[in-house]
Amino acid sequence: MTGKPIRWGVVGATTIGREWMIGAMREAGGEVVALMSSDRDRGAAYAGETGIPHATTDLAELLGSGIDAVYIATTNEKHRAQTLAAAAAGKHVLCEKPLALTLADAREMVEACRRAGVVMGTNHHLRNAATIRALRDAVAAGRIGKALFARVFHAVFLPPHLQGWRIKDAAAGSGAVMDITVHDADTLRFVLGDEPVAVTAMTQQGGMGGPGIEDGVMGVVRFRGGALAQFHDAFTTQYATTGFEVHGSEGSLIGTGCMTQRPVGEVVLRTAQGEEALTIAHENLYVRSVTAFQTAVRGEGAPVATGEDGIRSMALALAALTSASTGREAPVEPGI
Ligand code: NDP
Repeated sequence: MTGKPIRWGVVGATTIGREWMIGAMREAGGEVVALMSSDRDRGAAYAGETGIPHATTDLAELLGSGIDAVYIATTNEKHRAQTLAAAAAGKHVLCEKPLALTLADAREMVEACRRAGVVMGTNHHLRNAATIRALRDAVAAGRIGKALFARVFHAVFLPPHLQGWRIKDAAAGSGAVMDITVHDADTLRFVLGDEPVAVTAMTQQGGMGGPGIEDGVMGVVRFRGGALAQFHDAFTTQYATTGFEVHGSEGSLIGTGCMTQRPVGEVVLRTAQGEEALTIAHENLYVRSVTAFQTAVRGEGAPVATGEDGIRSMALALAALTSASTGREAPVEPGI
């Protein structure tokens, strides 16, 4: 990467920032110059811990602090207003998923960035996984013939330090569907190179989610090209494995351990010729995401997942919730 480092403002004193994204910005050559938190003391402590030189509780102050881009990782109900403010200030926006709570809000965010001429990305990290890219490449190369079915195994255990708003606060966009299914939606679109048209889903309250908040879901998605995809997401399973499979007319791709934040997992191709472990060059998913975003800010290429991708992943997740509440198949209508 050439030129001056991209200067980042981080919106939200968050776990994802501490565990992955602040380090990724630095590893990708960026400079993290300011943090915004709603709480002065917590923000100051977080900035100290993560080595961010300036902390504020005022978004306008953050946006005016000489930054090029913001990384928005607050709880989901705050993404919209913060993105609109950043776009109005001419700052590029890398926003966490789900982009918002409604499709109308997500579309407004993407449109505001487009009008302001700033880059907007959605931080769907799984597109950056070497395993997921190997699956996509193999499907695109026709190695399994026509893709007929996909199966996504993404039931995990929400660790105690994350058992907050995700299972308690509906106003913040809680629940397994907006948290996990939204990632499956993006990964399925990416791997299959196809768009979902309808979904049928059932949700579960398995003992972790608060009143009315699902902590597990299973569903089936129909894609435009005819493929069916099954997904299983949860906060409650301590011992399940993750995976992503695609079964085609001439072969099957079996990805194991690949629906995760870490650069791990493997992919096996099974055909009439036998079994082949695909070569996987693991790399940090978040560094790759930030690197592509910064390159787009410099005028080359696009974020790995764009704002439009963020709308489309939300459209499938919201349709899954509609299906679960109505007991009927729901159309997936991103409206873009
Ligand atoms: P956290 O629960 O860590 O933080 C969310 C908000 O909670 C923060 O913005 C902060 O507010 C507030 N908060 C944090 N700690 C405390 C505390 N001790 N007391 C009171 N409030 C507190 O969120 P996550 O990092 O888990 O998720 C943030 C966003 O990132 C979400 O949109 C989520 O969907 C997304 N995400 C994406 C992932 C990916 O791989 N793409 C992975 C994980 C999350 P304030 O900022 O005002 O201080």
